[in-house]
This record gives sequence, structure tokens and C-alpha cells, in this order.
Amino acid sequence: MLNSIKHTDVLIVGGGPSGASAAISLLNYSKCDVTLVEQSDFNKKRVGEHVSSSIFDLINYLKLNKNDFEKDSFIPAYASKTYWGSDKVSTTNTIFTTEEATFQMDREKFDFKLIETAAERGATIYPRTKCLDYKQLEDKSWLISLSHPTEGKFTIKANYLVDASGRSANVCRKVGGSSQKHDSLMGAGLFLELNEKSKKFEQTLESVELGWWYAACLPNNKIVITFFSDADIISEHKFHQLERWKDLLQETKQIKHLLSKAKVTSDKLWVRNAHTQVSDFKNLENFIAIGDAAVSFDPISSMGIGFSISSACFAAKYIAHEIEKGFSKKNIYQEDILKNYKQYHDIKKRYYREEKRWSTSIFWQRRI
Ligand SMILES: Cc1cc2nc3c(=O)[nH]c(=O)nc-3n(C[C@H](O)[C@H](O)[C@H](O)COP(=O)(O)OP(=O)(O)OC[C@H]3O[C@@H](n4cnc5c(N)ncnc54)[C@H](O)[C@@H]3O)c2cc1C
Repeated sequence: MLNSIKHTDVLIVGGGPSGASAAISLLNYSKCDVTLVEQSDFNKKRVGEHVSSSIFDLINYLKLNKNDFEKDSFIPAYASKTYWGSDKVSTTNTIFTTEEATFQMDREKFDFKLIETAAERGATIYPRTKCLDYKQLEDKSWLISLSHPTEGKFTIKANYLVDASGRSANVCRKVGGSSQKHDSLMGAGLFLELNEKSKKFEQTLESVELGWWYAACLPNNKIVITFFSDADIISEHKFHQLERWKDLLQETKQIKHLLSKAKVTSDKLWVRNAHTQVSDFKNLENFIAIGDAAVSFDPISSMGIGFSISSACFAAKYIAHEIEKGFSKKNIYQEDILKNYKQYHDIKKRYYREEKRWSTSIFWQRRI
């Protein structure tokens, strides 16, 4: 049984890329001590892996470099083939930009290195730990009740609370902030193993009547194939079930051919929320949201991982400033987020509107 009240300057809830990066950044650039709570045992399958080369500047800011990550954590994604708006292929480097090199990464290795670094640099980390209750005290610090399956219940008192809980933004919503959800996009996907004799292929995107497909080669001879659609469509047609998913895959013109290059190593799909949402926490004191908990982007933009690290680094600066200098500049952070979010939203809308072939499909009608 963990006993008594533990004290920390900053409590981060969530051990994904944003939570780990905020911890590293605070430990690198401030005197704050940091505690991080993660509900899982870090073994949950991580999805999402396409990043721009700017990821390396961000990890340099965390005082890490590419070589600190395990071998084959990143492979270049030289080009992507897009079948969107017509059956004709369009080849680009990335979906939203054409200038930067992009990479596919091994998310397990990437996320693990970040959390390991946070621990090595001094963060106290509680895995498999649930937050049961959040209470804000008169002096604006937080009292958080937690529970660990074997250690039992305990309490942490923190000067500052950080929501790094991902797309659910569950901390922000629980403590009185709001989160506005703009769609109900979901991804249902499978990791496969590239056959020994098959050649690697370009990242491929193909729109279909009920959504869109994405396939890519990942490090270590893995492949990912994902179908994206709205939650109600996936549920109504049972596309979260492997056999129904495979039937739908056979209706594609391009992506179905990629399946033959790979061995299916799992009989279960993974399913994840992939909706766009933005949180509003400007009225909450001693609180900030980062990464997907602040804004989550449609995976078509490949912006999530980069943003999760950059928002964490900015947030760490503002938190340290507030704790060490006594006044808050958090509104600048929230305004920046809303400005970037608006730009993203406009680009996303334009991109989806390029697909005009299925005007009677509910998936595309919702995106007009
Ligand atoms: C299908 C799919 C494909 C994607 N593809 C890409 C891509 O190609 N490129 C890209 O850049 N981005 C992609 N993304 C987005 C990317 O994965 C996210 O932006 C990124 O993981 C966000 O990091 P995060 O740390 O904010 O949140 P997460 O990675 O979601 O981590 C949140 C962590 O918080 C923990 N947690 C949640 N609630 C609590 C709680 N109450 N207490 C304790 N712990 C809690 C969770 O267990 C989790 O470990 C994709 C997303 C999806 C769903």
C-alpha cells in the first residue's frame, strides 16, 4: 500500500509522446519535479507512425538525437501514392506538404525511448495507475486520488496538472474544461508482415464510397493497412470484424493488391478513435492540455505526433514560467492552438472536398 500524500510540482496524466515529452522538457529546462501517471502497462499497441523530418528537430530539443533511438526506429517514406478524387494516381511526398522528407517509425520503439528518457532524467512514473478524482484547492493546486492494482489507493498533491490523456481529453473534461468533437472518424487496422520476397511499396491512400484506406511499409518488415470511416458506419457494417473488413478491402482497386505481399499475423483488427477535437481550458488555473488532449487531428494530416511533442515543449515552458515566476502566459498557448487548429481545419475541409465521386454517401456528405 502506497501511503501518505505525495507532493510534486507537475503531475502529467498520460504517458504517450506528449506526456513523456512534457516530462523531459520540464526536467531539461526547469527545476520542476515531475510525476507521470499512465493507466496502461505501456504494452498497448501504439498506432500512427508517419511523421515529417521536423520530428528530428523536436527530439533534438528534448536533448535526444536520432541515434539514441533503437536501430530501425525510422525508415524514410520517399513517396506516397494517392487515389483520391479519381482513379488516377497522384504521387506526392506527403499529403499536405510536398517539400519535406517524411518517415515511417516504429511507434513502440519511439514511445518507449521517450518514456525511458523521462524516467532516466528524473520523472517519477506510475504505470497501471488510474486517476479516480481531481480536486482543486483554494491555492489552485490539485489533490488527485489514484489507484494502482496491487499498491492500492494513494493521493498526489500537485501545483500544476497536465492533461496528456490523448484524444479522449478525459482529464480536461473531468475538471471542468470542454472538448468539442467535430466528427466521429475511426480507424480499423491490421499490422502484417511483409513477405520475404515482396518488394516494399509506397505509402498508399485510396478513397472509397464509405471512407478511405491507408497502407504503408513500416520498419522491421511490418505493414499497416487501415480503413477509416465514421464510428456509426463501421459499427453498422461491422467493419471492425476481420472478415467484413477483408470483404471491404477486396472492393478497393489498389490496396487489395498489397495484401498479397504480406502475411496476416493476427486474427483481430485494432480499432481506434481518430476524430478531430479541440479542447478549451483557458478558464482553468494551474492546468494545461497537450498533444491529442489539446487538439487531435485527422490522421490524414500526419500532424498528430509532431504536434504532441511541440505542444508538450511549449506547454513545459509556460508551466515552468508560471511555477518559477508566478504568473501565467497560458492564454498565448491556448490562442496559438486555436489559430493552428483553424488553419488545419480549413486545409482538411478543402482536402476532403476534392473527393466528389460519392455525393450520396453519408461519409462524404458529412465532409462537404
Ligand atoms: C489510426 C490512427 C493513425 C494515426 N496515424 C498518425 C500518423 O501517421 N502520423 C501522426 O503524426 N499521427 C498519427 N496519429 C495520431 C497520433 O497517434 C497521436 O497524435 C499521438 O499518439 C498523440 O500523442 P499523445 O501523447 O497526445 O496521446 P496518446 O498517444 O493517445 O497517449 C495518451 C496516453 O494517455 C493514457 N491515458 C489516457 N487517459 C488516462 C488516464 N485517465 N490516466 C492515466 N493515463 C491515461 C493512455 O493510456 C495513453 O498511453 C494517428 C492516430 C490514429 C488513431
